[in-house]
Amino acid sequence: MTTKTIGIIGGGQLGRMLAMAAARLNFETVILEPQAGCPAAQVANRQIIAAYDDPEGLAELAAVCDVVTYEFENVPVEAAENLARVVAVYPPPRALEMAQDRLTEKRFLNDCGIPTARFHAIDSQVDLEAALVDFGGQGVLKTRRLGYDGKGQRVFRSNGDSAVGGYAALGSVPLILESFIPFEREISIIAARGLDGTVACYDAAENVHRAGILHTSTLPARLSPVADLAASRAAKKLLTALDYVGVIGIEFFALSDGSLIVNEMAPRVHNSGHWTEAACIISQFEQHIRAVAGLPLGNPARHSDCVMQNLIGDDILSVPQWLKRDNVLVHLYGKTEARAGRKMGHVTELLQPSGEGYAGKKPG
Ligand code: AMP
Repeated sequence: MTTKTIGIIGGGQLGRMLAMAAARLNFETVILEPQAGCPAAQVANRQIIAAYDDPEGLAELAAVCDVVTYEFENVPVEAAENLARVVAVYPPPRALEMAQDRLTEKRFLNDCGIPTARFHAIDSQVDLEAALVDFGGQGVLKTRRLGYDGKGQRVFRSNGDSAVGGYAALGSVPLILESFIPFEREISIIAARGLDGTVACYDAAENVHRAGILHTSTLPARLSPVADLAASRAAKKLLTALDYVGVIGIEFFALSDGSLIVNEMAPRVHNSGHWTEAACIISQFEQHIRAVAGLPLGNPARHSDCVMQNLIGDDILSVPQWLKRDNVLVHLYGKTEARAGRKMGHVTELLQPSGEGYAGKKPG
């Protein structure tokens, strides 16, 4: 069957950008999201207003779509599995399962031969204290599930940091203690796998976070050719192991010895890949739509160096200034209320052409 209509579970900015990319290739999109008038529904053909695990809403989505994808990794796995019995769901629900729990994720990555921080499962205060002793008093304590943008975390920096009450402070839920990684920088790779098994990797981005939220992604990342190759090899291993279809975002810590370890993966388009819409012919959003619709993947080559900056909360007030600048792509998400910490939009500034083929085509 030829894909005509793509269902997207989740109605945030990622769903919005997927719907926009889909429209350009003549696909229709239906958003399943409980919040009416969400960013994605503003640009899609239709919204089904229902919870992500609502059986009726999901049945309706399956009935009107040829393929269903999602824009966030906390789609209930059971709902995705049930849906996959009646309509193609990409990326495969197993990818959700691996990404939703930091413990499962790290074990899976290590099974694939991909290094991560060392870790201990923490289910009590006693576990926490024993694990901290093992890591010399240092570590990053995280909730296993539903943590994002640095939420649900606590850092133990030295033997001076008391573990007292640490387990209860994060809600007495299943936790993981990771060894503290003295990384030099954080980088990420956006990669895609098509229905035919083809893999395409974008260049690595160098990411800076502020208050746990991505602030900038800069291209090119300062990375040795060996590390660069290691990142794309890890992406390929992961995508193949999951029999993946679609775009994935993989975050790495780059260490001073040149090695890379994976922090986490997101089975979806990723904030640190927004630069691709300005600096590549085929953005991560179009790449994902191509993959899930069974079209050939596009060339992920980058034509320019660039910096993507998130507009968080009141940063939205700087839009008039950004609009006056040359070589800046402004992308706003249709959110009316600029709450602190809320992603309102992003800008990508092209710095200079990076490829001869493209340099020749630049006007002027
Ligand atoms: P995460 O939610 O896992 O992406 O973590 C949020 C941020 O905390 C990361 O971007 C890092 O800056 C920092 N971080 C997370 N895990 C570690 C770790 N094991 N060692 C050092 N820093 C970390």
